[in-house]
Amino acid sequence: MSEKTGLIFDIRKDSYQDGPGNRTVVLFKGCSLYCWWCEDPETQSPVIEVHVTKTRCIQCGTCIRICPMDAVDFEQDLENKTAIVIDRDVCIACGACLEACPGNARALTGTQMTVAEVMRQIEAGRVNYMQSGGGVTFGGGEPLIQNQFLEELLHLCRQSGISTAVSTSVYAPWEIIDRLRSEIDLFLCEIKFIDDVRHTHFTGLSNELILENLKHLDHLGHPIILRVPLIPGTNDDEINLRAIARFASELHCLQGVDLLFYRQIAEDRFVRLGKPYLVKENHPFSEEQVHNTIRIFEEFGLPIHVADLQV
Ligand code: SF4
Ligand code: SF4
Repeated sequence: MSEKTGLIFDIRKDSYQDGPGNRTVVLFKGCSLYCWWCEDPETQSPVIEVHVTKTRCIQCGTCIRICPMDAVDFEQDLENKTAIVIDRDVCIACGACLEACPGNARALTGTQMTVAEVMRQIEAGRVNYMQSGGGVTFGGGEPLIQNQFLEELLHLCRQSGISTAVSTSVYAPWEIIDRLRSEIDLFLCEIKFIDDVRHTHFTGLSNELILENLKHLDHLGHPIILRVPLIPGTNDDEINLRAIARFASELHCLQGVDLLFYRQIAEDRFVRLGKPYLVKENHPFSEEQVHNTIRIFEEFGLPIHVADLQV
């Protein structure tokens, strides 16, 4: 086993929402897209970051004095309150401010892990996978970015008889997907919009490559589950839902559609990272909206799974 390392945000055990059966979910850090509603915003940046819990900060200024890079300062926030800010272009994630902080308000996100360290955690769930038809899901962030690290993990899982899924936007050069695809048992592909202008507005990038790669994978016979994050006032209009459902209905290897209704879980985490939370309609779906959405996908005869519904 090589000593290659990858930057991992988190490894979650016993998930039943990220592919079939009981799964260990390995979340890679770094993403190509910048989705406004990202549920794990810590995975967006490809580097280790400091996050600050404002409610724990007693504004003692220790972090300002101790920072070797002069990356920390006080500033007025949007509500005109004094708050600690970090210049993230300057911060080197040395950790000095974490240890010194008397309020325990600061923490680092992301850990460099070796292939062996990640595999140990994956292997620990083997009995559960066997009993439930589960396995490991590599997600993020975008796991295809750290593709050499991912490739090694996929290869070892295949050798160990552990079923693999990759949760991805498939925003990646086809050459990378082509290199890895034979070792991936299931693709969990997120699709947010069909309209390219709207996709670019809400994620920062065009969806042309995404749709092209999806069709390509389907054409080559790879099992695909489409995952549709549904965000109120953003992509839940009938035109977009019907366009996604139509696209899904034209895939030959589709195993299902996961409808991921918006959950109000990410705003605080954006704030802790010093990032703006841009979702305007920050509320859960009503029961009626949920039923209308499900009805549209059912009209196209699609096998639907509704994940973690909170209405
Ligand atoms: S050291 Fe901790 S408590 Fe003090 S100002 Fe910095 S973040 Fe706040
Ligand atoms: S992690 Fe290091 S460089 Fe970054 S803000 Fe804290 S002390 Fe400064």
